[in-house]
Amino acid sequence: MNPPSSKPSLTGAPEYDVIIVGGGPVGLLLGCLLKQQGQRIRVLERRTEPITQSAAIGITPPSLQILDKLGLASAFIRSGVQVRDCFVHGQRGKLGCVSFREIPDERRFILSLPQAATIALLQKHLGQEFIESGCEVTYVRQQGGYCEVEGGGRRLTARFVVACDGSRSAVRSLLGMRAPGRSYDCHFVMGDFVDRSGLGDEAHLFFTAEGSVESFPMPGGLRRWVVQTDTRMDHPPPGLVSRLTRQRTGFSVAAADQLNESVFTPRKFNCDRYYDGRIIFCGDAAHGMSPIGGQGMNTGFADAEFLAEILTRSEPLELLAAYNRCRRRAVKAAIFRAEWGMWLGTWRGRGRSVLRDFILKYVFCRGPIARRMGAFYAMLTIPFNTLKRVPASRLRPRTLDSAS
Ligand SMILES: Cc1cc2nc3c(=O)[nH]c(=O)nc-3n(C[C@H](O)[C@H](O)[C@H](O)COP(=O)(O)OP(=O)(O)OC[C@H]3O[C@@H](n4cnc5c(N)ncnc54)[C@H](O)[C@@H]3O)c2cc1C
Repeated sequence: MNPPSSKPSLTGAPEYDVIIVGGGPVGLLLGCLLKQQGQRIRVLERRTEPITQSAAIGITPPSLQILDKLGLASAFIRSGVQVRDCFVHGQRGKLGCVSFREIPDERRFILSLPQAATIALLQKHLGQEFIESGCEVTYVRQQGGYCEVEGGGRRLTARFVVACDGSRSAVRSLLGMRAPGRSYDCHFVMGDFVDRSGLGDEAHLFFTAEGSVESFPMPGGLRRWVVQTDTRMDHPPPGLVSRLTRQRTGFSVAAADQLNESVFTPRKFNCDRYYDGRIIFCGDAAHGMSPIGGQGMNTGFADAEFLAEILTRSEPLELLAAYNRCRRRAVKAAIFRAEWGMWLGTWRGRGRSVLRDFILKYVFCRGPIARRMGAFYAMLTIPFNTLKRVPASRLRPRTLDSAS
């Protein structure tokens, strides 16, 4: 398929079916799904270089099902590490294990793959000719049956614009869309290290009175360590992750083995509406949740799948209300889970740690709830997490609201 012409045509038919603002993982996945359906698309991305900041690594089974539609799941699986067990540690050692070995899905693991590798695979599949790099969108407007977008000194037109431009969405600000939410009062520093821990492909969560430590395997012989800190540390002292890891877990992680570092203070927000007429929000542009729990990108992937289905139907405007309802409900569930897990995991002090150990051991690692924890963390129990779980009745045009 040839890339469409970029000549502006303000009076004729729009040049594109869909312009996607933002070539992060969600925008690229949406582009791939729409291109597969023969839609004329363009992804506008302000970056010219690959991301260097380390972010998402966990890809859940529902996301792999979406990648299956593109024939991409095997390439992802070949590039990543399959995590089948997540061990939970308390004050006095191992409390139990959340296992993905019996989850109700054909892929019984969480795939660990750095976000930069996810982006690279999606970019390659989409084709560079559909992506305009170095194009920062500064203006979006809709009139009549189409939208105008300005970026990189050019004006383009499309039937729909999808904002996939991340949590600080410029499109959201241009439209004055509300994104109510707040930052949490807990802070983390994480680093990816050459892995000499001997933990193989296991994930480990350590909950101590001094703060939590999370540890995940990564491809290429690397391992991520995430430590909770007392305050936000924009400039952490050298070797902080390795020192706190050693103090809290006993694992000796050499500072010299650290390849990168990120600091984050989780926050949550959920847009009141995921669309305004023909301009639609998807991924982190629509919602944000604590990265603890690894759901943000996966939630965005599910948004993209839903939206791609709607935008390729004959009556997309009427179906945007269903997108809004179903995805906001799924996002609320994901935000609640991430928040709840982080709340329990970040308790500090001896008394609270003893209580947490008891809850984790007897409620989450043993007994009837324990058997469901794998499916829970694999995001198999989020409502409407893939289109397969959305009843067909919900995808019939029902509500003609402001989109029409
Ligand atoms: C520490 C950390 C760990 C995480 N771990 C996980 C995990 O394990 N699993 C998981 O599912 N999620 C995880 N997340 C969340 C995940 O990183 C995000 O949910 C994901 O990046 C969202 O993708 P996106 O494409 O919606 O937005 P982004 O990744 O933010 O991409 C937005 C893109 O839009 C571009 N852009 C912005 N403004 C403009 C503009 N005006 N014009 C053109 N382009 C623009 C940006 O350059 C960027 O490329 C983690 C996040 C953090 C911080």
